Amino acid sequence: MNPLQTKIEFLKGVGPKRAELLQKELRIFTFGDLLFHFPFRYVDRSKFFTVSESNQDQAFMQFKGHVRKIRKIGQARKMRLVAEFYDSTGVIELVWFKGIKFVEPKLDPDKEFVLFGKPTRFNGKYNIAHPELELASTSKVAAGRSLQPIYHTTEKLNAKNLHTKALEKLVYTLTQQIQVVIPENLTPELMQKWNLIPRNKALFEVHFPTNTDALKVARYRLKFEELFFMQLQILRFKNHRKLQRRGYVFNKVGERFNQFYQEVLPFDLTGAQKKVVKEIRNDLKSGDQMNRLLQGDVGSGKTIVAVLTILLAIENGYQSALMAPTSILAFQHFDGVTELLEKVGVKTMLLTGATKTKERKEMLAKLATGEVTVIIGTHALLEDRVKFHNLGLVVIDEQHRFGVAQRSRMWAKSKVPPHILIMSATPIPRTLAMSFYGDLDVSVIDELPPGRKPIQTIHKYDANRLGVMGFMRKEIEKGRQIYIVYPLIEESEHFEYKDLMDGFESISREFPPPQFQVSVVHGRLKPADKEMEMQRFVKGQTHIMVATTVIEVGVNVPNASVMIIESAEKFGLAQLHQLRGRVGRGSDQSFCVLITDYKLSADARTRIETMVRTNDGFQVAEADLQLRGPGNIMGTQQSGILDFAIADLATDGNILKVAREAAQLLLEQDANLRLEIHSNLRKHFISYVKKHPNWGSIS
Ligand code: ADP
Ligand code: MG
Repeated sequence: MNPLQTKIEFLKGVGPKRAELLQKELRIFTFGDLLFHFPFRYVDRSKFFTVSESNQDQAFMQFKGHVRKIRKIGQARKMRLVAEFYDSTGVIELVWFKGIKFVEPKLDPDKEFVLFGKPTRFNGKYNIAHPELELASTSKVAAGRSLQPIYHTTEKLNAKNLHTKALEKLVYTLTQQIQVVIPENLTPELMQKWNLIPRNKALFEVHFPTNTDALKVARYRLKFEELFFMQLQILRFKNHRKLQRRGYVFNKVGERFNQFYQEVLPFDLTGAQKKVVKEIRNDLKSGDQMNRLLQGDVGSGKTIVAVLTILLAIENGYQSALMAPTSILAFQHFDGVTELLEKVGVKTMLLTGATKTKERKEMLAKLATGEVTVIIGTHALLEDRVKFHNLGLVVIDEQHRFGVAQRSRMWAKSKVPPHILIMSATPIPRTLAMSFYGDLDVSVIDELPPGRKPIQTIHKYDANRLGVMGFMRKEIEKGRQIYIVYPLIEESEHFEYKDLMDGFESISREFPPPQFQVSVVHGRLKPADKEMEMQRFVKGQTHIMVATTVIEVGVNVPNASVMIIESAEKFGLAQLHQLRGRVGRGSDQSFCVLITDYKLSADARTRIETMVRTNDGFQVAEADLQLRGPGNIMGTQQSGILDFAIADLATDGNILKVAREAAQLLLEQDANLRLEIHSNLRKHFISYVKKHPNWGSIS
């Protein structure tokens, strides 16, 4: 058996009781699990201070000296252990409230100790609570290792004296005791080509670094390994699918497509749009099933790319489905797309949850016979009763709102899987795209249609509201329209509603009728009323739209040029960026005003500053990733899909890129890892896949 699979209870110093705790608290079951429980930071122990240099501003300080005046004070549970620690320059008091019976026997006045902890000043004297104390003679610090590993522990573990120091000792025992022959899982070629140190060396150094440089090299090797096997799995899945699943071949361009391109298209495509259309056309005629993620910031013009793709499907004799996450958006697509497609004689239909039964039945019949070629809708399209004659293309807008399982249901609606185009307005940082959508091909529209002026984003505090009102008045006089958005947080719906209505009242007072008209839209309105209020704004009958975030997705009113966000500190970055994307759609200079409380948390301040600094969705997404971490962004916090032992998608983008390239090259050389030189790698890969079954089937 691989020694790493030995149960943790058999490690010297563990035993059944501690084993149970380690399992429960840290999910450490085996020697291997402990070895892969990496320090989350290191403390530099190379520097020693004299006791007289004690001060509170240091996170930690380290001294050499002796202990004296060891005594217990108080009774039973209130008991504490105190001692004096001294060197030739002064005295500092040590105190323990817990673990007294472990500590006391070690305090030998005749021996020299290394003391480590955070001094606090109290009544004019310095003391350290729960310091680390080691015999100078056996201290690893004294032995020249100066970086001390700090491990995650929990309250329960600490209470049982299994604190970071104890874990350090266990790991040390492990590396010494079993003389683990840690199996190498990369080939010598890979290690040489990508500059990696051997695995067993890296695993030792990461716990007990010789110095910072050695630590860096060790961490690099381990991060590379982790990302490499992930990419190997994703890419294998992708290659495999390409081989297995043949797609429809759309090799005709066709008359209607050309007619559309020359006569109907209301503008010239941007360079980025042309590039993307070309990429899509290559996919469609390749014989493989297309699985493409189209990323483009709000307003970059993804819809027209979808329309052109749909036309290609039609010209090759196949049906298309266009799916949107909300009925508002589905309706808007239906309006816009129908207007374009009917000019070349293509019929479209709209199917949502609100479609009446009779109408739906007729529609479904026409869909099943192939009489209708384009259907637009919401989740309603996923239902089993929606059957196609020959579904050749599925376009999914704003995909992050659809789950994986839902998407795969579309695949099942056709014998040969349809081509899939996923459009996302939420820019996903590259590292996440390479992991989460690693098996999709990615196209990016990185250019806005010409003539757009970048939106100016301004931060104002509540106290400046009067100035904001004046600014609004000026913009309305110029003929512009304005959004004012309030946060909606479900737990406190009542208060938010009150905020919104208070805001609505004060806006109505400030902008009274008949000169000014104000719309209001929120979750408590009946759908019909909501729609009516929206329409009044869309048609330009109202000047101001006061709303909760229901308008976040997809609303398109080019004449609206000011977006005011109230309590902007309560919104996440992605949402702020989406909201801002509602303006800047016409040729006028647009503005986004973020109004916040005077007091801001550090994170909130970073969010606001990021918004003011850049309009670039990818930069916003990158900042979001740094703030919230990958799990939160992709909504995978619970699933553990993005859990890594050491790699971090927020900071290890460069390593990921290299690891992906390495995996790609390896698969080109040996697609099924059958070569003899890859037998170790293959073994490791198989057990990796067992542990991470999700990666392959994410998208
Ligand atoms: P999104 O990528 O957010 O879905 P849309 O497809 O809704 O963006 O496009 C936003 C606006 O830009 C629409 O009014 C659309 O007609 C317009 N548009 C798209 N492409 C171009 C272009 N190449 N030139 C001018 N306007 C364009
Ligand atoms: Mg869109």
